Amino acid sequence: MQFSHDVVIVGAGGAGLMSALYAKEGGADVAVVSKLHPLRSHTGAAQGGISAALGNEEEDHWLWHAFDTVKGSDYLGDQDAIETLCQDAVRTIVELEHYGVPFSRNEEGKISQRRFGGHTRNFGETAVRRACHAADRTGHAILHTLYDQCTRQNVRFYDEFQVLDLIMNDDGEACGVVAYEILTGEIHTFHAKVVCFATGGYGRAFKTTSNAHAGTGDGMAIMLRHGIPLEDMEFVQFHPTGLYRLGILITEGARGEGGILRNSEGERFMERYAPTVKDLAPRDLVSQCIYKEIREGRGIEGKEHVVLDLTHVDEEILDEKLPEISEFSRTYMGINPKEQPIPVAPTCHYAMGGIPTNADGQVETAERGTNVPGLYAVGECGCVSVHGANRLGTNSLIDLVVFGRRAGMQMAEEANNRARKFKLPDEPEKHTRDLLDGLLSNTEDEGEPTVNVRTDLQETMMNNVSVFRNDETTSRALDDLAACRRRARNVVVRDKGKQFNTDLMDAVEIGFMADYAEAIAASAKYRTESRGAHSREDYQERNDDDWLHHTLFYSDCEGDYEFDTKNVVINRFEPKERKY
Ligand SMILES: Cc1cc2nc3c(=O)[nH]c(=O)nc-3n(C[C@H](O)[C@H](O)[C@H](O)COP(=O)(O)OP(=O)(O)OC[C@H]3O[C@@H](n4cnc5c(N)ncnc54)[C@H](O)[C@@H]3O)c2cc1C
Repeated sequence: MQFSHDVVIVGAGGAGLMSALYAKEGGADVAVVSKLHPLRSHTGAAQGGISAALGNEEEDHWLWHAFDTVKGSDYLGDQDAIETLCQDAVRTIVELEHYGVPFSRNEEGKISQRRFGGHTRNFGETAVRRACHAADRTGHAILHTLYDQCTRQNVRFYDEFQVLDLIMNDDGEACGVVAYEILTGEIHTFHAKVVCFATGGYGRAFKTTSNAHAGTGDGMAIMLRHGIPLEDMEFVQFHPTGLYRLGILITEGARGEGGILRNSEGERFMERYAPTVKDLAPRDLVSQCIYKEIREGRGIEGKEHVVLDLTHVDEEILDEKLPEISEFSRTYMGINPKEQPIPVAPTCHYAMGGIPTNADGQVETAERGTNVPGLYAVGECGCVSVHGANRLGTNSLIDLVVFGRRAGMQMAEEANNRARKFKLPDEPEKHTRDLLDGLLSNTEDEGEPTVNVRTDLQETMMNNVSVFRNDETTSRALDDLAACRRRARNVVVRDKGKQFNTDLMDAVEIGFMADYAEAIAASAKYRTESRGAHSREDYQERNDDDWLHHTLFYSDCEGDYEFDTKNVVINRFEPKERKY
């Protein structure tokens, strides 16, 4: 079937819904196509908070927020975009409040704010309370509110439609997407004036992750396959406090409310590494420190974890401000955080890199101004870049809504100003049909189950490209990934049926994963310095002379790839050594 809308947005998380709302309010006919029901998007799992310098608890300023974000990014974030983020954050939170997000309140009845890693007052003096939150279910509250608003505005939803291809015509214009309807197994074309990807992150490429099962980076892989580069893919965020072995997240808000990390000697080790902000240092630093403690023999009982101690935190705070993580600890670890410290280790959490865009969500193929007509990306799959080499906690949710809003307005304008849709190429679904037919015809003697390839891919990424990397480990990962890509083409799909053939979609996703995992490993091998979350054991210093630029990774998805660079916008804060 063929559907037709002015604006087609792929993905119904916070970024997709915010851009849909604004495109719709701008007068466009808007459809949101999502492989999950919108309310199952990973945004709903976000716990700790959303940042804005409201100053409800103590003095704060958007410029301090901007400075913290630039410093947190290890000076690789684009400062013009960061200014936009931090200035717009304040009005966007007020707007979310008016839309109905049930934020927690302080005693004066204002939105409650708490401390989070790397957020400081007065350019680094002390920690500041900047994270607005709805208990520790902030993403859930935002996602539900935005979905209500979109429904109210009659945004059209296509739920459980998995997009497998972007449609570009011979003139290099984006004109739609091809989607697989999970309920029926039918393939559909969506023809649109503008297309926006809001497909979220890729945490599932790593063995231990806080991300939902759907975080398979589809959008990034689809872009690569159309010759669009991925930016700064070497920067993968490992969150310091995943539940040991499970990777399920314990929000940084737990440390914001007074939680302390301890090693096997009971020592509050972050005091040694970050004397000013201690446990509230940014995530790249804390994750690296946890591994240093473990490597030096101070993991708990010789195992690969430390503990998060909340036993001294008031029961009332645990109940009112951290109810969800208290429950996770009880359910998954059998631990009551009031009585016993929680075993934690770093878990793959967030993609700093992604599809390169400007601050209006328009996808760019190289330096500023190289927009692809009709193509947008927002949210975690995009790279504006405001997070540079390391994202601060709470800065993703605010990125979704600030840049989702701007992209929505820009898309409405483009759709309203352009009378026609770009012309579709002949047979837009051909590539997708060939892909699915190929997978369905693989036989057992040539191929293997998808799960085998996925397990190997996740293990090689975890062992070789996680918190610490070097030339040898990244090369090993690249060899393994080349094999995974070959094996992914031959995986056996046992289910030949039409309805809810998740076996077939798993097979498609492992192909996507092999493509963007290569982008991560190759970019990590390429950048011979340490910056933010990219910590090279063989190049331990930051090297601004050679590496103060973004990386663009282009690939033919057959094993040939190349790099280009893109300037970092530095207009206010000159790079300095990063100390906390
Ligand atoms: C456990 C956890 C806690 C977090 N806590 C915080 C926090 O407190 N504060 C903060 O700032 N950030 C937090 N983050 C990060 C933040 O939540 C995410 O970065 C953000 O929600 C991503 O939003 P998104 O809209 O880009 O994508 P998502 O919310 O991940 O949504 C992706 C959407 O794309 C759709 N999709 C994907 N592929 C396809 C396809 N092929 N076809 C069709 N649809 C597709 C999915 O169905 C989904 O609707 C947290 C993340 C996790 C995992």
